[in-house]
Amino acid sequence: MSMILDGASVATSIKEQLETRIQSLKDIGVTPCLATILVGDDPSSETYVRMKGNACRRLGMESRRIHLEESTSTEQLIDEIRKLNEDGTVHGILLQHPVPHHIDERAAFEAISIDKDVDGVTTLGFAQTAFGFGLYPSCTPAAIMAILDAYNLQIEGKHAVVIGRSPILGKPVSLMLLNRNATVTICHSKTNQLDEIVRSADIVVAAVGKPKFVQGDWIKPGAIVMDAGYNKGNVGDVDYDACLNKAGAITPVPAGVGPVTIATLLKHTVDAAERLSIK
Ligand code: NAP
Repeated sequence: MSMILDGASVATSIKEQLETRIQSLKDIGVTPCLATILVGDDPSSETYVRMKGNACRRLGMESRRIHLEESTSTEQLIDEIRKLNEDGTVHGILLQHPVPHHIDERAAFEAISIDKDVDGVTTLGFAQTAFGFGLYPSCTPAAIMAILDAYNLQIEGKHAVVIGRSPILGKPVSLMLLNRNATVTICHSKTNQLDEIVRSADIVVAAVGKPKFVQGDWIKPGAIVMDAGYNKGNVGDVDYDACLNKAGAITPVPAGVGPVTIATLLKHTVDAAERLSIK
């Protein structure tokens, strides 16, 4: 029987540890503030942004929501980001991915000040994560690491197979596992014999964006299965029921990686507020 890795309780513990830090900042007149930017009207993105804003407010932090029209140009989006960079009351900036196709998303990410890049999306933020001294690694990869650590699961020496190589998830989590001395294999849509590779994994990270993609018979008995996926109908990238009895430990969806991602975003914003306000 697998151990269920309870992301909701890991998230609660991270948020509890923020409470006194937020109060100390308020005592000196600083309310940690996360600015979220949403471009267009994608319903899933709207939900994600709303969840992040609500999570901020529940902890007594400020959430500033910037909602721009679908027709916004790259230049207009970058102007908005620059205003937030210069606004001393804003400590973290999150541009919700994906933006409409006509926008140069990379250019927009690069416009975020490194001091406020709380989701590790800039080239510099990514590079710092790769070197192992990043202040704010991408939140979902950091959440995956936080869950492994909360349960004292061994990373060093293990074979970790990451399925997905996106800049905010698959690549950074691969580097973070490598920095913790895992032996890492990164798989993607052109990988041959993916099932065979996954069968050799001690740790599987699913970051594919396809519901129930990882099959039960791909899992080595006792392997740790981390499901970063979040698809319509609250379904992960892992066939949870099929993997449950094979895995040694597994994250559910919902209440797995998702809530820890949000808690990590709040933590990074508080970290940034402290760094920017307490000299
Ligand atoms: P993405 O940018 O679409 O990347 C998906 C990756 O999966 C790509 O690298 C792609 O390979 C790979 N892939 C696609 N089909 C594959 C196949 N048949 N075999 C092997 N690899 C395949 O997605 P993402 O932004 O990284 O998100 C991945 C998942 O995580 C989604 O379910 C998303 O909703 C979820 N997510 C969750 C959170 C959270 O808070 N829990 C946060 C962010 C994302 P190529 O590079 O070759 O195209």
